[in-house]
Amino acid sequence: MSEKLHLTGFSMNDLTAFVASIGEPKYRAKQIFKGLHARRLLAFDEMTDLPKAFREKLNEIATASCLTVESRYVSVDGTRRFLMKTHDNLPVETVFIPTSGRDTICFSSQSGCPLKCDFCLTAKLGLLRNLTAGEIVEQIIIVLNDVYGVGKETPHGTNLVGMGAGEPFLNFENLIKALGIMSDAEGLFIVPNRVTVSTAGIVPKIYEFAKLEARPHLAISLSAPTNELRDRLMPINKRWNIEELFAAAQEFQKSLRRGERFTFEYVLLGAVNDSDEHARELARLLEKYDLRKVKINLIAHNSAEPLEYQPPRPEQIQRFKDVLESKGVAAYLRTPRGRDIYAACGQLAAKSEPNLVQIAR
Ligand code: SF4
Repeated sequence: MSEKLHLTGFSMNDLTAFVASIGEPKYRAKQIFKGLHARRLLAFDEMTDLPKAFREKLNEIATASCLTVESRYVSVDGTRRFLMKTHDNLPVETVFIPTSGRDTICFSSQSGCPLKCDFCLTAKLGLLRNLTAGEIVEQIIIVLNDVYGVGKETPHGTNLVGMGAGEPFLNFENLIKALGIMSDAEGLFIVPNRVTVSTAGIVPKIYEFAKLEARPHLAISLSAPTNELRDRLMPINKRWNIEELFAAAQEFQKSLRRGERFTFEYVLLGAVNDSDEHARELARLLEKYDLRKVKINLIAHNSAEPLEYQPPRPEQIQRFKDVLESKGVAAYLRTPRGRDIYAACGQLAAKSEPNLVQIAR
């Protein structure tokens, strides 16, 4: 299967070139694209508008599906975690978060992650490999089909967040290609305005991202207001430190559209980075770099063995938020979702434990 072309990762232009290369008329490209992305069919045999002989020809050289769902877990809060496997048996995790008004899918850009954020379980896997554009797109199709039914419309649209396993900006080309395919109005039609990509601070890519014509929203994972602490919590800081990161954020701020803000994510670790003084230092940094269009998402650490960090005390979370707000910073507390099924922030580590509630596929 790995040697077959994974057409789910082909743009409309790629498909047009592909059908021409096998001597088929141009309109077949549109039929395949619609079958994959508008009807969300992950098998050519289900595309009954294609002649049988053509489907057989496609099956010989190409595939619609490269991922298999190994298990899926449902949280008491309705969040679903999907543990999938690539054709070469590597884990891919995707999380569906139901929200009134708009549902969110959190997708992965890599299998594992090469960055070694100290508070994150995914880091323990190391980098297994970058996901292809097709594997990124297929995650979304699988989740949409599971939740709403094959080809059925999503009741209130879907937001995407690139905050699952991996550092999206270390797989930049495939990420941007996948997002382009998903934004196509003939297919999934998930436009960039409904997508947020989160980086741990791959600074050169922040500049590149800012220049994209159809740019999704940006979130930067910060989690410490000083280099000393950030070096320890997020070692990527040794490559690009806070000054370089904030200079890039300042440049990114210039690319914001009317009414758009961008986000710093701050994981609060009990008695490590959650003091009043840390909050004041963070506010000072934002002021120094004149980052007025930023909001801070506070995420209480989700404890998970073998990580030794503790969640912050609830009253300290509130104090941290209050300090930021007293300095004029927009701070929000993110409600943790799917903690019980290892689906929450920092918990994705391909866990498949029998005591988790699993729905048979
Ligand atoms: S927090 Fe994100 S970037 Fe850091 S190790 Fe985990 S998955 Fe990778």
